[in-house]
Amino acid sequence: MLAKAFAAQSATTPLGPFSIDRAAPGAKDVAIDILYCGVCHSDLHAARSEWPGMTYPLVPGHEIVGRVRAVGGEVSRFSVGDLVGVGCMVGSCRHCIACDDGLEQYCEGPHGFTQTYGGAVRGGLPNTFGGYSEAITVDEHFVLKVRHGEKDLAAVAPLLCAGITTWSPLRHWKVGPGKKVGIVGIGGLGHMGVKLAHALGAQVVAFTTSPSKHAEALRLGADLAVTSTNPDEMAAHAGSFDFILNTVAASHNLDAFTTLLKRDGTLTLVGVPEHPHPSPSVFPLVFGRRAIAGSLIGGIAETQEMLDFCAEHGITADIEMIAMQDIEAAFGRMVKSDVKYRFVIDMETLRKAA
Ligand code: NAP
Ligand code: ZN
Ligand code: ZN
Repeated sequence: MLAKAFAAQSATTPLGPFSIDRAAPGAKDVAIDILYCGVCHSDLHAARSEWPGMTYPLVPGHEIVGRVRAVGGEVSRFSVGDLVGVGCMVGSCRHCIACDDGLEQYCEGPHGFTQTYGGAVRGGLPNTFGGYSEAITVDEHFVLKVRHGEKDLAAVAPLLCAGITTWSPLRHWKVGPGKKVGIVGIGGLGHMGVKLAHALGAQVVAFTTSPSKHAEALRLGADLAVTSTNPDEMAAHAGSFDFILNTVAASHNLDAFTTLLKRDGTLTLVGVPEHPHPSPSVFPLVFGRRAIAGSLIGGIAETQEMLDFCAEHGITADIEMIAMQDIEAAFGRMVKSDVKYRFVIDMETLRKAA
């Protein structure tokens, strides 16, 4: 089936109309009509080749929600009409240790996991096309059940990346009651990090470079907001955090955060800026056995766990809906940290386009 889409043809051309020949569903595939797709900062990094290895045309989008249009003969978990989600992965080897552990994002097979866009398609040909399109076909293993009500659907889309990318490290580092947790960068990922850490029962401090976000950080669930560029505000928290999750999409000084950790505390990076951070100082790490770690999205089982947790606790993203045609303006605002807190594309605007 030919599906309308929006693609970047090169790192320097704006996204524009494109057409994808989406495969008919194979035996284990689910064909999905995309209703909404979130706009992740990774989409912008990728479209503009701020990361290496991008292939064009590039159709971004890995925060996908939609409705099942058709299923292959061996699909057991989904039926036509179901509301479903697709995140950052559409394939993996399915039998390495990581896949067996339900952590497909760390797949150790020969090709690693298949990214929803810019990944190799079955048979090794480049490249997968993502959710800035009206339809997608995905193996059922990589399709998530959406249990939120239909009216929440647009605000569920960002859970498929921003939600799971913060949930996975929060759970791995055992964030919960009695833990003091920092979330750095109150953007798409960060605002979900605040909501989820709060819902998990932790004491949450939001670190932002935007003083205008203080009041909103509290509304999102933070107990306190700190301006990370104000040394006095930062010093008041020295040595007090169990865990800090850093979602910032730009290079910055990490020492400002490692010094805030308790003994054995961890600063986990999920932001992947174009340019490296200045090398962190070793002193705050060795004096206090503190750690700097990284974390990549999340596995399929934990993504379903996060979606179900959010449905149960009434958690969705705070979104601003846009038309597909306005994506470049949205990217421009994202670069200026001017998003509250996630753009979501209404795919009806693409469907209706001439
Ligand atoms: P976003 O919505 O643009 O949010 C990033 C936030 O970082 C901004 O809102 C801003 O928050 C803060 N920030 C921006 N520039 C800054 C600077 N120069 N110094 C300090 N803070 C700054 O982006 P996002 O979609 O949340 O993505 C964040 C990063 O995570 C991106 O690099 C993205 O590629 C990456 N990512 C990684 C994974 C993974 O699996 N590891 C998954 C998804 C995304 P304040 O205004 O509050 O300061
Ligand atoms: Zn993402
Ligand atoms: Zn694998």
